[in-house]
Parts: sequence; structure tokens; C-alpha cells
Amino acid sequence: MSSEPPAPRRVVAAIPHGPDIVELCLERSHLAFEVGDCIALYSSDGTQSRPYSLASGTDADDLRVLVRRMNGGRVSPFLCSLKPGDWVRTSPPFGWFRPGANAEQRPFVFMATGTGVAPFVAYLRSPAAARPAAFWYGCRKAADLFDRDWLEKRGAKLAVSREVVSGCHHGRITDRLNDLPVGDFDYYLCGLDNMLDDVTEFLLKNKTPWKHIHRECFFNAPLPSRHL
Ligand SMILES: Cc1cc2nc3c(=O)[nH]c(=O)nc-3n(C[C@H](O)[C@H](O)[C@H](O)COP(=O)(O)OP(=O)(O)OC[C@H]3O[C@@H](n4cnc5c(N)ncnc54)[C@H](O)[C@@H]3O)c2cc1C
Repeated sequence: MSSEPPAPRRVVAAIPHGPDIVELCLERSHLAFEVGDCIALYSSDGTQSRPYSLASGTDADDLRVLVRRMNGGRVSPFLCSLKPGDWVRTSPPFGWFRPGANAEQRPFVFMATGTGVAPFVAYLRSPAAARPAAFWYGCRKAADLFDRDWLEKRGAKLAVSREVVSGCHHGRITDRLNDLPVGDFDYYLCGLDNMLDDVTEFLLKNKTPWKHIHRECFFNAPLPSRHL
């Protein structure tokens, strides 16, 4: 098997969403993918890659990812510096996180922190998307919220932990777990590990079967202050 990184893909647009989040749009070239899939994106020298969840609809002309710039990181600062016409190496799509897809078609709940909203954006941008029974989305700062109006129109309830923002809960999305619909739902959790763990603990205490809890961890909170 070749150890060469895959061939590059052209950047068609780079849309800033606040100072540290970029929506990178890449040439699709008919690549098939499923909602919830990731692609690995490579550093400029092709030696490092990181997974990023696709945020585009399955019928879209381009491939989109939401990238948070991690200062000092090997890959995300490079991705956030890309401009239309630049090139970036990408892997084929892969993944097992499947928001909104369960064989029994149970109603479902989405919970995201930060760029963990990406797979839910992919779901809502795709054909035949249904409305989640609840959709909670939390960020540290208002500037990090992805397309607030568009998400609120699709039922998202927003939380911002480090700023007071009109219309948003001031705190973490896990502050209000007692208001979460509990019952015969599937739960899709994506983003920071401490949110995933807190929600999982709450759901298990409320007798939600493990098989109805679906988790995709993007980031680990630094110890000891494991707070969003
Ligand atoms: C399944 C999955 C899907 C993901 N999807 C997304 C997504 O859609 N969007 C998204 O933004 N992210 C996503 N991520 C996270 C992403 O893959 C990267 O981990 C993230 O972008 C950081 O990569 P990086 O190369 O920039 O940072 P890294 O080089 O991996 O560094 C990570 C952190 O460590 C710090 N660091 C690095 N080197 C040092 C050092 N020598 N000393 C001290 N600190 C250091 C950096 O400053 C940075 O804060 C996903 C992760 C997973 C597992």
C-alpha cells in the first residue's frame, strides 16, 4: 500500500464565521459521502492529517468543513489560511456517526458544542431532513456560533458560556439537562468530550439504553478545568 498522501483538492471558497472559525469549501468532483462522514485533511507538507466532519448536504456541489483554528496546531491554522484557488490534500470519506439515521425511525435529539455542529449542519442541509425533537448547540463566544439565524429557524436552542448574548442561554448546554426530552429518542452528541460525558451520564441515569446514545468526540477539554 502506498504511503503517499492523497492527491490535492481545490479550495473553491473560505467563508469566515467569526475570527477563529472558517467554513472551507472544496471541489467535490462527484465524491459520494453520507451525513456524519469525516474526511482527513492534510498539512501543507502532506506529513500530518486530522479528521474533519463534513458539513455539506449530500446533494451539494462542494464539500464543506467547519474548521476551528487551534493556535499552535499542525493542521488547523494551515486550513484556516487557505484561499480560493489553493489546494489541500484530502482522504476519502469515512465514519460511523450517523445523525438522524436509526432503523426504527425514532425521533431524535442533536446536541453540539463548537464545530461539533458540523454533522448536524450536514444533516439539515441534506434532502429529506426531518426536524429534531430538540437541538441544543453551545459555544464559548457569540462569534463562534455558526450561522445563528439559519440554525434557529431549524429549532436550535443556543447557549454561550463566556459572554452574555441576547436570546442565548448564558452557560453550558448541559446546565439545563432536566429540560431535555427523555424517552424513546435517539441522542446524537458531538463536540467536546466533557459535554458528551455529562449528557451520557444524565441519559443513562434516566434509563436511556446505550444503543440510543451516539457520540462523536472532536476535542478533549484540558485538565483540570474541564468546562466549555
Ligand atoms: C472524528 C473527528 C472529527 C473532527 N471534526 C472536526 C471538525 O469538523 N472541525 C474541527 O475544527 N475539528 C474537528 N476535529 C478536530 C481536528 O481533527 C483536530 O484535532 C483539530 O483541528 C486540531 O488539529 P491541529 O493539527 O491544528 O492541532 P494539533 O497539532 O493536533 O494540536 C492540538 C492542540 O495542541 C496544541 N499543541 C500542539 N503542539 C503542541 C506542543 N508541542 N505543545 C503544546 N501544545 C501543543 C495546539 O496548540 C492545539 O491546541 C475532529 C476530530 C475528530 C476526532
